[in-house]
Amino acid sequence: MTMQAQLGDKTFTLERFPLDQKNRSLQAWDSADEYLIDYVSEHHPDCRSLLILNDSFGALSCYFSHKQLTVCSVNDSYISHQAAAYNLAENKISAITFSQLDSLSALPEQVDLVLIKVPRTLGFLQYQLSELSEVLAPGTPVIAAAKTKDVHNSTIKAFEQFIGETKTSLAVKKSRLIISHAQGGYKAADFPVNWPLEGTDFTISNHANVFSRDSLDIGARFFFNYLPETNKAKSIIDLGCGNGVVGLMALSRCPNANITFVDESYMAVESARLNVELNMEAKYEQCSFVENDCLSGFERDSVDMVLCNPPFHQAQAVTDHIAWQMFKEAKDTLKEGGELRIIGNRHLDYHDKLNRMFGNCKLLGSNKKFVVLSATKNTGML
Ligand code: SAM
Repeated sequence: MTMQAQLGDKTFTLERFPLDQKNRSLQAWDSADEYLIDYVSEHHPDCRSLLILNDSFGALSCYFSHKQLTVCSVNDSYISHQAAAYNLAENKISAITFSQLDSLSALPEQVDLVLIKVPRTLGFLQYQLSELSEVLAPGTPVIAAAKTKDVHNSTIKAFEQFIGETKTSLAVKKSRLIISHAQGGYKAADFPVNWPLEGTDFTISNHANVFSRDSLDIGARFFFNYLPETNKAKSIIDLGCGNGVVGLMALSRCPNANITFVDESYMAVESARLNVELNMEAKYEQCSFVENDCLSGFERDSVDMVLCNPPFHQAQAVTDHIAWQMFKEAKDTLKEGGELRIIGNRHLDYHDKLNRMFGNCKLLGSNKKFVVLSATKNTGML
């Protein structure tokens, strides 16, 4: 992995998180970061308080954090928060003027300048711009950056709708800037999104950046056919819980289970929490909700079952390293005899992965698109 970053007039060593990813070609910054840095250095050299949204691995935070500049970085990703803190520390940058907020916290008022890395999800961008419209003083510049291919008419429209007059820059190294100025006045965005969960009385509430926000994921729907059903007390983890539909359905079929909902998105974990509270309030005390990178830091040999509908991308990159990490850490966290049960796209060949990792893997069900697999931790047999 390339780690030496020349950003403007400074050099940093920057790493992606988690640290042990296999894809060595990916780096922790991109040409959109470089463009933002060059633009701000030229046009806003006197900025004293900066708000940064969606800085994936802390490249912008590292560049801009110094004694004369207060930096607040807002992110929906727990991993991004970890990466920024790590990269600041590794580059010996004092964090005295640096702070981080999650995506659902109130934004700071009175900032000189806002920088945005345009997120993948338009709805999340709309949510963030709406939140900005509530706090920004009229005239505050908002500069966003993205790969040219990710700047659509709808992206520009969102800036015009929520912030104010907007123009775009020329493309440089396949990235483009979106330059806007707050016109003042709050513009609301319609989040969370609610929908009824088919076949149940549940209503599912989804914050703006949640996976499959507008309807039930087809993989999750198929997975529902293979969830556990028992009256026994069981400890279950819904790993990569998103809005929590898998854990919620498991709870409805295992009424005495303790369920831990885990995701690296703050909005996902909060949506899952909301969905248990709204739909199964009587069971709320049996549940816990944790922002985390997979199961790192969880107690070994401590749970009966891990349910998982794994992701296959991180930020803009398609990758299976997160699924691998989830399976490996699920194995560590399961008790002897405990089970990992997953849903996956057929073509991803998780069967082979799990067989190699657990020494066994059973096919519980399949259709044209998906397989549901079960692997049991049985260290005695390995
Ligand atoms: N369980 C939900 C469902 O079935 O609709 C969501 C499944 S979605 C395919 C995968 C989830 O994994 C996303 O919510 C994503 O935020 C989460 N995720 C991605 N990387 C993660 C990580 N390193 N640790 C924990 N969760 C992660």
